[in-house]
Amino acid sequence: ALYEIPDISIPRHVRVNTLKMDVDTALLELKKQFQVQKDDLVPDLLILPPGSDLHDHPLIKDGSIFMQGKASSMVAAALAPKPGWEVGKVLDACSAPGNKTVHLAALMRGEGKVIACELNEERVKRLKETIRLSGASNIKVVHGDFLDLNPEDPQFSKVRAILLDPSCSGSGTASARLDHLLPSSAPGQGADFASTERLNKLAAFQRKALAHALSFPEVERVVYSTCSVNQVENEDVVKSVLPLAASNGFQLETPFPKWHRRGLPVIEGAECLIRTDPKEDKEGFFIALFSRSSSNQQEAP
Ligand code: SAM
Repeated sequence: ALYEIPDISIPRHVRVNTLKMDVDTALLELKKQFQVQKDDLVPDLLILPPGSDLHDHPLIKDGSIFMQGKASSMVAAALAPKPGWEVGKVLDACSAPGNKTVHLAALMRGEGKVIACELNEERVKRLKETIRLSGASNIKVVHGDFLDLNPEDPQFSKVRAILLDPSCSGSGTASARLDHLLPSSAPGQGADFASTERLNKLAAFQRKALAHALSFPEVERVVYSTCSVNQVENEDVVKSVLPLAASNGFQLETPFPKWHRRGLPVIEGAECLIRTDPKEDKEGFFIALFSRSSSNQQEAP
């Protein structure tokens, strides 16, 4: 129950699943019940007053809208996949429960194909449930370890965009902010959220996964994101791959230039990175976008 205490001071965001409903229709529907407005940064995001209860709303139940925070919705939007990219062009590396996967599918207007990789069998079920609810038919689920995907395999060698949202400490989320209320002895909770050993283990995987993403031969855009506020999982991970990124022709790009909270000034290019603040923005997220040019280069959103 502790984890379900809603934060009543911060606006609610919902992402319109444009595979099922356009943004203006969703706006009109929700206006019957709430004061709603469009978000100024993410085009398919709507803002509702703090505390708006949407859990049983028909649009949530039928997958026309998803409860998804602003920071979380900025991740797929930063990757900006192109509608019509055929099979094998967009890869969600660590995908369950699939919120960003189905966002990618919607940004591609249901055309082309997103490959969604997930290691954990139970979470593959949740991923499939999210996909079913979204109505997306352009997602191929791969149950396996992202690190084992061979970038040279013809299935993956044409991947042009990778969304990497790996397991992280979750220290930017509401449950982590309530953490100090928990007994530190609770297994997996309490002091464990911030244990150095755990953070280092997570960071080791995050560094490996990001380096792997940057090794796909035709990839042009890689988004790395976490819902952590820890430098070790964010700027430090980006810093560790900068030499590899540079030698593979990548540079950090600046998604959402109007967003004011950027990376901690501990690495070169920190101003390209995005941070959100757990208190001010509801969740503490981190987003980095790597890109390299090709004949089909895209603009950052
Ligand atoms: N992007 C998801 C979303 O927005 O709904 C959340 C992803 S969650 C932070 C990280 C996921 O990565 C977990 O489901 C975890 O099981 C999965 N994962 C962890 N290690 C992995 C690996 N080596 N290969 C593929 N998936 C992995």
